[in-house]
Amino acid sequence: MQNWGEAGLLDHCESLRSDATWVAAQWASPQALLLAVDELGRVSAGEGLTVPEQSPHGAYDAQRHFLLGLAAGRPVFVQAGETDAMASLRELMPVLDDADRELVVKAVALVNWHRTSPHCSVCGSLTVVTSGGLVRYCGGCRRERFPRSDPAIIVAVVDADDRLLLGHQVAWPTGRMSILAGFVSAGESLEMAVHREVGEESGLRLSSVRYVGSQPWPLPRSLMLGFVARAAGTRIEVDGVEIEHARWFTREELTAAEDAGEVSLPGSASIASRLVAEWRSGELPAPEG
Ligand SMILES: [Zn+2]
Repeated sequence: MQNWGEAGLLDHCESLRSDATWVAAQWASPQALLLAVDELGRVSAGEGLTVPEQSPHGAYDAQRHFLLGLAAGRPVFVQAGETDAMASLRELMPVLDDADRELVVKAVALVNWHRTSPHCSVCGSLTVVTSGGLVRYCGGCRRERFPRSDPAIIVAVVDADDRLLLGHQVAWPTGRMSILAGFVSAGESLEMAVHREVGEESGLRLSSVRYVGSQPWPLPRSLMLGFVARAAGTRIEVDGVEIEHARWFTREELTAAEDAGEVSLPGSASIASRLVAEWRSGELPAPEG
């Protein structure tokens, strides 16, 4: 699985995309590809969960057709809408290759942002799409508005014996468990968010926190920042509001619970799955303390 730690494969065409004539010519290219993203954040999919070979058709409309960039030299556009076959990121991400996975995640993120950002967040004026779809311009305050991401932390908490903490959210089906996560609050560092969320949800204090890596999760617009942390103790007190119950697992206990059908872990598209897998195989960088 892609760990999102490498350079992206898509060329954003930063120096060319402000030229509307050039963008329109990309739309008309026989090589061009058009993806659609619906209101549920699903992407148009080809047979067998692939990126479909659909070419743009009709006249180019800068307000509706957004250029993601060039993928191996091929222009890729995205628009809000639906086709006959739509698939979720959860379905697509585990089966696509790195290049296509990057495309669909960026497609969903960009369309979600345009869909929710027609007005300027400062003065309320209606904004217009510029720069081939990566910017919205506000004529009211004469400022450019850029796509936003909401930072959220996700943390593999381990104890002194390298057991992993897994929690069950109130809203989840029985048996589903994962590591703890939460949004970064206003005026907070990522590390502060890790300490606060773990404290709120499990009652645990942390002796050390270490950054591991990040992953975009554009449903609707999160950027997941993964950490590993060492708990200062082992006594768990869940909040009962978000987390219903939580417990420590050794690797053997987790495998046995999964085999018995008592625990199901996050799908392989998520950074949660990656952090749990790295803890399992001993590859997760050990936090100090
Ligand atoms: Zn404005």
